[in-house]
Amino acid sequence: MLRRLFDDIGTLIFSHALTPSPCAYEVLHAYVSGEDPGTGAAVAEQLRSGQGLTDAGIARIAARNDAAQAGALSRIADALEARIGDCLAAVGESRGSAETFGNALHVEAGRLSSDPQATIARIIGLTEAAVEAARLVEAQLHNARQEADALRNELHRARQAAEHDHLTGLPNRRSFEQRLRATIGGTEGGKAVVALIDIDDFKQVNDRFGHAAGDRVLKFVAAFVRAALPRDVLLARYGGEEFSLLFTGMSVDQAVAALEKVRERLSQRSLVHQESGESIGHITFSAGVAKATDEDAMTAADRALYAAKNRGKNQVARADA
Ligand code: GH3
Ligand code: MG
Ligand code: MG
Repeated sequence: MLRRLFDDIGTLIFSHALTPSPCAYEVLHAYVSGEDPGTGAAVAEQLRSGQGLTDAGIARIAARNDAAQAGALSRIADALEARIGDCLAAVGESRGSAETFGNALHVEAGRLSSDPQATIARIIGLTEAAVEAARLVEAQLHNARQEADALRNELHRARQAAEHDHLTGLPNRRSFEQRLRATIGGTEGGKAVVALIDIDDFKQVNDRFGHAAGDRVLKFVAAFVRAALPRDVLLARYGGEEFSLLFTGMSVDQAVAALEKVRERLSQRSLVHQESGESIGHITFSAGVAKATDEDAMTAADRALYAAKNRGKNQVARADA
């Protein structure tokens, strides 16, 4: 289906009479592959707007996303730098006042025998001032800590957004590939299984009911497959109308059987267009399943998927079968 990715990008470029520049390719690749949710959303918005894609529109998306990504991260970095500065200043100040306090006490201790009463009064004053200074530093550190916690949450959200697909909410291809690499490299490597799902004749859904309806069908299929499989099966949006799966606790046979069940149940559902009430009909998918022995696992699953399509779609095929 890599060939498809390439073809889909080419189709978009030529059907909208775009200049086939690296920038157009990058933006459209982000859209078709689903790898960059922000850029994908901006392209989908332009497609829906009715004006279609233009070179200027593509350039705007590229510039806006670069700026947005760099902006968000540099804002977090700046804020963190400022908080670290605050903490260091507070600690420095605290050390300085402890030193001053120590020196003053030393001086007062020398005077204790000559004028005990006045000296004790001054020591009490000094101690009170030191306690107050420590309280201020503590408050400063407490504030810095709260701000650091807020920044940590913001970073968490930014990371979540970077790892998930904006439309379906599923993990995106990048995070899938990371998990797959870790699994293949880890102890579970030999036992894991991968699969690729591709919705059948999805282009027709877009062509007949529009892109927005296509988006809703994609969301529906994603949620349907997600709900039908155990939580420990990783399901990601691999790109466009393709989903990738990583089974760590199942054999190839078990994974094929699980996908067969989902395929069967989905094919029995009849979808209806939300706005017009028109029947969209049955949505089916084809899938290819392969052992996750090495980095070529996805290619093997892709080949099996291709075989399933050739045999008439709406079926699950295994690699080397
Ligand atoms: P096949 O059964 O061989 O898989 O046919 P198909 O029509 O599903 O495959 P094809 O690759 O020709 O078309 C896939 C379409 O999916 C083309 C593309 O515009 C559409 N698509 C990709 N991503 C999205 C998306 O995010 N939203 C919508 N609505 N459509 C998308
Ligand atoms: Mg496809
Ligand atoms: Mg398809």
